[in-house]
Amino acid sequence: MKGLDIRHVSYRYGERRALDDVSFAVTPGRFCALLGPNGAGKSTLFALLTRLIVADEGTIGVAGFDIARSPRSALARIGVVFQQPTLDLDMTVRRNMRYFAGLHGLSGREAADAIERSLAQLGMAERADEQVRALNGGHRRRMEIARALVHRPDILLLDEPTVGLDAASRQAITDHVHRLAEGGLAVLWATHLVDEIDLSDQVVVLHRGKVLSDGSASDLAGGQGLAKAFLAMTAEGSEATA
Ligand code: ADP
Repeated sequence: MKGLDIRHVSYRYGERRALDDVSFAVTPGRFCALLGPNGAGKSTLFALLTRLIVADEGTIGVAGFDIARSPRSALARIGVVFQQPTLDLDMTVRRNMRYFAGLHGLSGREAADAIERSLAQLGMAERADEQVRALNGGHRRRMEIARALVHRPDILLLDEPTVGLDAASRQAITDHVHRLAEGGLAVLWATHLVDEIDLSDQVVVLHRGKVLSDGSASDLAGGQGLAKAFLAMTAEGSEATA
């Protein structure tokens, strides 16, 4: 399938088990929130999906490619926004984008078109010639998301992309990314903030390395709302680590 297919994935750091038999799938056109408190294993899963580390057990399918057997093809289908910004502040938005497009083998007219298209998808087209340093935090993040789309990936991974941003910027980014999913991308959005999730989204709750639930946000919320449902599921762990 064109989306993301994670099956029975486990990973340890030495004795510490960070992921334990994790399985779920994200189909094209879905916004999937990977919801878990700090230490749940979200960043570890992102490191596996981007092949910074290699799973001890299990398989990861990316747009139909097995990431262990066909890593180049699989990674070419992924766009990723890591938690830590990676921007050259002294370049313009366009130059940053052009550099990244080059890494994907795009140049000339093709690169220019891809850059215009992805900036427009994030409402950033008019900022192409600004210095990154002059942009506020929300616009820098939107630029990073646009940059992750430049090679037309099937899957977009975002690891807590709104950390440190104000409410208005967070809202703009969650709205933009929801629209990208509606346009056919498979989106995996790691967060510990339930207010970034729409009731029509898929939610995978990860806690202490295990998937506790996988389904629609509205089913998870039930009558009590998403915040309460999530807290009830993960409260025991929070107390234990408090
Ligand atoms: P999250 O992103 O959800 O906060 P992480 O994937 O960072 O969770 O961490 C999952 C677990 O793995 C935690 O218990 C964390 O302490 C542990 N961990 C993460 N990175 C390392 C590492 N490099 N070495 C040892 N343990 C780690």
